[in-house]
Amino acid sequence: MPITPLANRPHDHSHCVHTALAEADALCARQGLRLTALRRRVLELVWQSHKPLGAYDILGVLSEQDGRRAAPPTVYRALDFLLENSLVHRIASLNAFIGCNHPEHAHQGQFLICRECHVAIELEQAAISDAIVASAKEVGFSVEAQTVEVVGICASCRSA
Ligand SMILES: [Zn+2]
Ligand SMILES: [Zn+2]
Ligand SMILES: [Zn+2]
Repeated sequence: MPITPLANRPHDHSHCVHTALAEADALCARQGLRLTALRRRVLELVWQSHKPLGAYDILGVLSEQDGRRAAPPTVYRALDFLLENSLVHRIASLNAFIGCNHPEHAHQGQFLICRECHVAIELEQAAISDAIVASAKEVGFSVEAQTVEVVGICASCRSA
């Protein structure tokens, strides 16, 4: 019986944010990485919901709420840092970023994206990535990275 991902049911989201930031602190401390105040704040903003957030939305909040005149390249560099260290995933179809539930172990991004509410539910199915690698191998293609983005309607939008 698969566990319903948290993103797809009502829950105390402040707990998600708290856990994500604590995991990022621990991961960076372990790997000797500097989670600067801006990087941490950008991660917190990405985690403000389970809906992917664009770089310009992040910039908007930084200048409106924090009164921080962060230049776009600074925010892009912070996002690059978070991407490189697997703290966030990039959703290409939305040109946006989503926090990762399991930054502590390497995995490929697999997302169910609701076209109504834009929630992105992360799956972690080794069977899917294995199938992609095997199919690619059949045509002599060597897979380096894969992000699967599946579009549809989530359970709460379907019942609404
Ligand atoms: Zn949550
Ligand atoms: Zn992930
Ligand atoms: Zn939805």
